[in-house]
Amino acid sequence: MSIGIVGAGQLGRMMALAGYPLGFDFLFLDRDAKTPGGQVGPILVGELADRHLLGQLSESCEVLTFDWENIPVEALDGLPGKARIAPPLRALAAAQDRLSEKRTFELLGIATTRYASVDSRESLELAVKSIGLPGVLKTRRMGYDGKGQFVLRKPADLDRAWEALGKAPLLYENLVPFDAEVSIIAVRGLRGEIAFYPLNLNVHRDGILRLTRAPFGNVALSRQAQRAARRLLEHFKYIGVLTIEFFVKRGKLVANEMAPRVHNSGHWTIEGADTSQFENHIRAIAGLPLGSTKPRGHSAMINLVGEMPTRDKLLAEPALHWHDYGKTARPGRKLGHVTICDSTAKTRDRRAFKVLSSIDRATWLAIR
Ligand code: AMP
Repeated sequence: MSIGIVGAGQLGRMMALAGYPLGFDFLFLDRDAKTPGGQVGPILVGELADRHLLGQLSESCEVLTFDWENIPVEALDGLPGKARIAPPLRALAAAQDRLSEKRTFELLGIATTRYASVDSRESLELAVKSIGLPGVLKTRRMGYDGKGQFVLRKPADLDRAWEALGKAPLLYENLVPFDAEVSIIAVRGLRGEIAFYPLNLNVHRDGILRLTRAPFGNVALSRQAQRAARRLLEHFKYIGVLTIEFFVKRGKLVANEMAPRVHNSGHWTIEGADTSQFENHIRAIAGLPLGSTKPRGHSAMINLVGEMPTRDKLLAEPALHWHDYGKTARPGRKLGHVTICDSTAKTRDRRAFKVLSSIDRATWLAIR
């Protein structure tokens, strides 16, 4: 079976690397052949929304999936060829727009932030009046890694926020004084079977994920997350991996956003779970039985952002796994990650903090 992947970033590459041993072939579509995916598989080069290239992909593959969720849904609708599209376009459409995402959470009874749609300076004023300060103004579309966001703390910030973001449709929400950030990775197969990975405890800095540790949380927290994920998976008749990010406040989960794809906070599953999120996504979309999501001990994943540390020095650390995405270094760009696995949470934390202090001192200082 051939699987087409729209987008050939690191997520696409890790999907292909998990799918080759299962006997699948892959074909990517991306703007540049020198992408992480392009290093491991054939690639069509062109715009991600190019109907002609998407048609070519769909004619050469049995299933079409995504490494990036922001492909315009219109470009994917009614493609020629035989390819099944998974996850479903309805889920993609909901996740592409923060307003429809929030409405979906509300519709399904999933607690989320208070929010208001903003499309003029006046509506920003009204939104701040009804929701209050502090809050976050976000672009409804195309926001990732904290891009397209402005935190408002005082009335004087309104002008600056509007100046920075006012050209696009926006959403204003309350700033949650969270105790922690967590995410759940869930997967639904072709026959409707569902599996959950344990909760991930995530640390962001400047809107970018820096550190994930798993498994995390007690039964009550996991149940809340699983209930939310199940509702979304069933609502969309979803096929593949879905991620939800939450804020934790006094033991309650507040949904921040969902991603209709494999997720950075699940990279630890490559070495730290019976079946990785990437393999389970491929199994789900190809109609295979899902693999066990059980963690193997305790894992920590540290993102390598902006510049790569010295590989050989870090590899002296036992049971540390190195992932270099082969990308050109740029400030704020995710270039790779390392995963540390251990038998207890305590020893894992000790080792992860030691590595973090040497490669990402600012995050280490913020959480130690
Ligand atoms: P997002 O792109 O919405 O996932 O935001 C990136 C990061 O910014 C989140 O993981 C949080 O650390 C922070 N953030 C975003 N929205 C909020 C909010 N409403 N309250 C508190 N922190 C937020």
